Amino acid sequence: MTPLVLLLLDACRWDYIDPETTPFLWKQAETGRHYRRVIPSPGFCERTEMLTGMSPAESGFFTAIGHNPEQSPYSGLKPLLSVLHGLEKLSTSALWRKVLRRILRQSMRRKGHGFGPYYIPLRLLDKFCLTEDYYDHRDPRAFAVPSLLSLVAEDGFRTHYDSFTALGMFNTKSDEERLDLAVKAAVCPTTKLFLVYHSAPDAFGHELGPDHAGMKTALARVDDQIRRFHEDFLARRPDARFMIVGDHGMSQVHERVDAGAEVVRIANELGLRVGKDFFFFLDSTMLRVWFETPDARSKLAPAIFESHVLASRGRVLTSQLAESLHVPVADRTYGDLIWWADRGVLVWPDFFHSPDAHISGMHGYDPSHADSHGTCIAFGPGISARQVETLELRGVFEVARELLIDE
Ligand SMILES: [Zn+2]
Repeated sequence: MTPLVLLLLDACRWDYIDPETTPFLWKQAETGRHYRRVIPSPGFCERTEMLTGMSPAESGFFTAIGHNPEQSPYSGLKPLLSVLHGLEKLSTSALWRKVLRRILRQSMRRKGHGFGPYYIPLRLLDKFCLTEDYYDHRDPRAFAVPSLLSLVAEDGFRTHYDSFTALGMFNTKSDEERLDLAVKAAVCPTTKLFLVYHSAPDAFGHELGPDHAGMKTALARVDDQIRRFHEDFLARRPDARFMIVGDHGMSQVHERVDAGAEVVRIANELGLRVGKDFFFFLDSTMLRVWFETPDARSKLAPAIFESHVLASRGRVLTSQLAESLHVPVADRTYGDLIWWADRGVLVWPDFFHSPDAHISGMHGYDPSHADSHGTCIAFGPGISARQVETLELRGVFEVARELLIDE
């Protein structure tokens, strides 16, 4: 049994790999199999694509949070959320907001719910729920089709999952701790698949922006960390194979758009009320709107199409466009209308970040642009040198599956 380590190097853009900055990964890419560009689907459910081989249209998982009042852990908490909303309005301080939301997140965790409030308006929280992370990925209910985890289990082997990531995972660890944990787990002879997550390229990419000189320093550190991890892992499992996957790229933010304020402004002009006639969700690259009344649908939808602020910085995801991009079409989970920002345009504020956060890089833009592309390097026993120009992110599933089967 040949073990496979699948290391998800979050937001490792394809052009980050070079001989000076990342000598270890560069060498593995030269001597192993290198899929130079990994092309993700639009949205934020990359782990589902990798683990199941399905597009968002096939899996039904598109953005991280969807409209699902039946499954929302906040349903039935309306009175409490109203009180907290009142408290939140007492001060405009970002710290006050942060503290209040942390308390709410911790009390939800104590009840076993991983879906934190982020910066979602408190009175709307009961409308939403996690999508791909609603179930733990080890749970048989997580996916409707076989996943890498279920295939490994079917063969009677185990998957090391504690070094991986999920929204709402309770025991958050540092990158170093996740790598150490995987090395410790390497000695277990029945574990065949090791899922490991490394956040640094994503974290630094968001903070600094991909063009910042500090990225090289951060990437060099990551490269060295992976080199040591590889060495330590091989000391315990000399036959292991590795797949390093950058699941998507990162674009420099060059403009911010307050899409929430714009939709509220349009609605006010039309005499429509948020929370009553319609509601919306702000991802970093999307404005998603749900119409609750026929009036909202007939008036607000065309006005959003016509908004100069939005039309000059993005486009509405029509059914035709959604179909061509393999994302869900007319699925109420994700919105009755979705406006999608152009590359480098950041929806700000959004429902994920504190308004005082500093964001210079973002992903989730048009995947046809090179900025959006990740990379994939497979190396180890039996993997010969081969350069492949592109691989769709969902193709990672098939590559991993073959490496798991092929002894
Ligand atoms: Zn990110």
